[in-house]
Amino acid sequence: MANQSKTSSSSSDRLNHYFSLLSSTASWKGTLEELFLISRDDFIFDNLVIYQTDSETGLLEVLFAKSTGRGKSAEADASWGESLANRIIQENRMICEEPDEKGHRDRLAQPYLLGLPINTEDKLPGVLVFIRFGGPTFSEDDCRFAQWTANLTTSIVRKKMLDEFMSKIEDIQSVTKLQADFISTISHELRSPLGFIKGYTTTLLRTDTNWDRETQKDFLEIIERETNNLTDLIEDLLDSSRLQSGQMKFDFHLVRIDSLIRDEVNRTHLTNPEQKIELDFETEIPVIEGDPRKLAQVFDNLLSNARKYAPEAMLQIRLRKEKKHLIIEFNDDGQGIPEVYQSRIFTRFFRVPEQSMKAHGTGLGLFICKQIIENHEGSIHVSSSQDGTSFKISLPYALVTKKITAEESV
Ligand code: ATP
Ligand code: MG
Repeated sequence: MANQSKTSSSSSDRLNHYFSLLSSTASWKGTLEELFLISRDDFIFDNLVIYQTDSETGLLEVLFAKSTGRGKSAEADASWGESLANRIIQENRMICEEPDEKGHRDRLAQPYLLGLPINTEDKLPGVLVFIRFGGPTFSEDDCRFAQWTANLTTSIVRKKMLDEFMSKIEDIQSVTKLQADFISTISHELRSPLGFIKGYTTTLLRTDTNWDRETQKDFLEIIERETNNLTDLIEDLLDSSRLQSGQMKFDFHLVRIDSLIRDEVNRTHLTNPEQKIELDFETEIPVIEGDPRKLAQVFDNLLSNARKYAPEAMLQIRLRKEKKHLIIEFNDDGQGIPEVYQSRIFTRFFRVPEQSMKAHGTGLGLFICKQIIENHEGSIHVSSSQDGTSFKISLPYALVTKKITAEESV
């Protein structure tokens, strides 16, 4: 009696174990591994393979294969069940196949196969095939058990398909959100300069007022500035789509990064003399191979970001040489970027919501920077806290040992 209750409790444990697989959060592969690990206590097999109809080709493809003991190498070559699997798909029933010649000394030459349909309700049916080398024949109990395993396999494979379907939906949702963000950002960014241009042009064209030359010049300067903003916006859009599709052309030269940054800083000072910038450059900075215009675009965006999002702050630009890389840091002591957003700022159109009202922008700048730096086989990372933000760029330098003169570098 005691023995019986022990047996029934252990078989209910096993049953629980089987059912728990259906709600397992492990990967579908991990869940299948576990299923076939426990099922080997109830049902002996050497290898198994699961085939699933491929949605594109309509042919059976190996989804999962497992080898135990004998014929372990058969895992790599799971084609042994293919012809049986195709028969099962056609006839949609369980089929057992036994070797023509029995009693062979080489057990591997005597495969006993048992195949069952899985996922039959779906447009992409599959097959589960077990193999025993050298027998014994699959009994009725074995077949019943294999059917139970096939049903569980169906549920696990369906969960996999559902997960894949859900991740496709998430991808579509994120593309749709990107498109919505794009339209809202672009329409906002277009409307604002167009509003200025239209407003000042209409004002200048009024026939009832005579504007003095000084005022006319001020208005025309605003129109010019806003037209430049529109041109920049269109350039950024074109750049981002060229970079996204790998169509951007790079024109590599030997570049002196220290001079390039100094030039950008000088240019910035002409238009924004109030921006506080400190340079901390190591001497003897080696040249790198790079596209000077594209790299200038990176520095320009980092300078303009510091101006827009850390307006009162001091921006320190550091340049140093490591073994194989130049390290360029843009450190400001502004308000920083909240941690939740830090991983997203390099994606297209992303702008920190709390900051997007403070300054104009499309959220393309850092995306473009990252793509440009990666096209130079470098990297760019951000670290930020309430005390400030730091962008760190690493660029490999050319294996150029000769001293670079001003004429041959940019
Ligand atoms: P664009 O560069 O296309 O004109 P943008 O400046 O808004 O627009 P990015 O340069 O990609 O776009 O920057 C993305 C976001 O990262 C910014 O909107 C801002 O929220 C945040 N950010 C970037 N630099 C800083 C910084 N130095 N301090 C605080 N936040 C920053
Ligand atoms: Mg920017």
